[in-house]
Amino acid sequence: MNCDEFVELVTAFLDGALSEHDERRMTDHLAECDGCTTYLGQFRSTVDALGRLDEPRLAGTTRESLLAAFREKHV
Ligand SMILES: [Zn+2]
Repeated sequence: MNCDEFVELVTAFLDGALSEHDERRMTDHLAECDGCTTYLGQFRSTVDALGRLDEPRLAGTTRESLLAAFREKHV
């Protein structure tokens, strides 16, 4: 996955709408790309601020994957 594809899929990712395969590719990309990790954080903050996406709608597994990816970068 490259950054363009990541950005293209980010809404579906946050919405838990991706297949497990694509979701894995997203988290793999996050683990190795600081730019997209930052982008995702900003995107989520923006979406949350707009109230268009409820946090509970994120699947638990997705949230765990995200947290894991973020921890890897920020430990
Ligand atoms: Zn990237």
